[in-house]
This record gives sequence, C-alpha cells and structure tokens, in this order.
Amino acid sequence: MKVILAEKAGFCMGVRRAFDTTLETVHNTGGKIATYGPLIHNPQVLAVLKEQGVEILDEIPAKRSGTIIIRAHGVPPDHKAKLLKTGADVKDATCPRVMKVQVIIQKYREQNYTTIIIGDKNHAEVLGLMGYAEPKVHVVSNADDIDSLSVSGSYIIVSQTTQDDQSFEQLSSEIISRFPQGKVFNTICDSTHKRQDEVRSLCKQVQAMVVIGGKGSANTQRLGQVAEKMGCPVFMCETNQDIDLKALSQYERVGVTAGASTPEWVIKKVIKTLESL
Ligand code: SF4
Repeated sequence: MKVILAEKAGFCMGVRRAFDTTLETVHNTGGKIATYGPLIHNPQVLAVLKEQGVEILDEIPAKRSGTIIIRAHGVPPDHKAKLLKTGADVKDATCPRVMKVQVIIQKYREQNYTTIIIGDKNHAEVLGLMGYAEPKVHVVSNADDIDSLSVSGSYIIVSQTTQDDQSFEQLSSEIISRFPQGKVFNTICDSTHKRQDEVRSLCKQVQAMVVIGGKGSANTQRLGQVAEKMGCPVFMCETNQDIDLKALSQYERVGVTAGASTPEWVIKKVIKTLESL
C-alpha cells in the first residue's frame, strides 16, 4: 500500500507548547504538578503525563501547593483568578492564537457588543471564550441554532479556532443576512486552515483517508468530516491498534492525517502498520 502522510499531521504549535511546558515543569520543578482539565484530548499523551506524575484537576481546589498548568484551550477569566488564589504557581499554557480571540472578545465586550461564537457547545475552548464575553454571548453550532437566535444592537462573530472553514463561512453569512449590524472575525487558526486544506487536496490523490486522533478531539473529528465532504472513504483511529485493516486492505493509495493533539510516535506506528499491508 502506498501511504501519503499530510505535512501538517499531528501536534500544532499550541499543543506542542502546552506539552513542552508541562514536561519542562516536571523536569525542572519539584512538588505536585497538575493540569486544570486534561491537557489535550489525546489518551496516549495523557497516559505519558500520568506516568510522569501529572495529575488532572477537574475542580479548582480552595488551596493547593506545587504547580497548576492551564491548558492550550484556555479558561474563563474567573477560573484563572480562582486558580491564582489557590496558592499554587500557575503556568498559563493557553495557545497564543486562542488568546488573540479572547482579546478580540474582551475589547468588544467593553464596548457593549454581544458575542456570537461559532463552535462546539461545551468544548473547553468555547467555554473559556464565553467567560470573556458574558453576559451577552451566544454559541452557534449549526443552522438550527440560527433559527432560534435573537440579537439586538451591535455584535461580533468569532470562531472556535478549530472550526471547519466552510461551515464558518456558511453560518456567519447566514447570521449576517438575518442581523446585518454584525462584524465578522474569522479566528480559525492558520494551523487548522492548512490542515483542512491539505486533507481536501490529499482526498483528490488517494482512495481513502485515515485520520488519527483522540475520540474526544473535536479537531480530529472535524478532519474526518472534511474528508467525508470530499466524498472520500474515511477511517478514524486512535492508534495502530484500532485501524480497520481488513477494510483498508482493498485500497492501494491511502492518505493519512492526524489531529492537532496526536503525538508523532502514534502517527509513526500507524504508518508502519499501513505500509505493512
Ligand atoms: S489548533 Fe491552533 S489555536 Fe488551537 S492550540 Fe493549535 S495552534 Fe493553537
């Protein structure tokens, strides 16, 4: 089987930065180390961090020693304030691209604008962004959400950084056509743009696409949807252990990509397995 790997497969800048910050903290700092929420949506990476003694905090404790790391998705500002009050050393690994969206929202919120976030409800990044926009904020995930939307006065539209370009264009145009007084900021990050563009062009060269990444990783699932929209058969997997090899063996040319939180060592194993077919 001929396997073509996408150039942008795997860790993006923000995830790498958060992962490196955590490992550096493990190696250079004594005491307890925890991340507030899972650092990224990849079980293999989380297992490595657990082996290194990194805990995951689901709640903010009243008091805590050691270090707490804020993940790449960012957190609402009141959560950061509470983390700082615990007494722990707080390292903020929010991705700079996510911070840029937080800054845009904050700037317009101070001028009394409403914020519409195009993204996945309950995704950690979106919950963090909502914290900067509250109380005047709406999350739009699909066309049905627009039907029930009601906005008066000035507003902005921003995007979760890992949204699909085409969905963002479509949903933001629909919102603007209903409420023309809005400003649109396409805040999908470059890494996401490139990764999705590469999938679209790979789909034209291969017979099937394999997308590697955590089941809970929204950007990984979105890569699968982008390939599906191109009419390409898609095989999602987390590691080389859960690939549908029987179904894949009917193809001669297969493309491979991976979500922004998929580590290189997992990608390499999948490639090796596919090449052995
Ligand atoms: S996908 Fe983009 S915004 Fe999200 S962590 Fe990676 S580089 Fe940052």
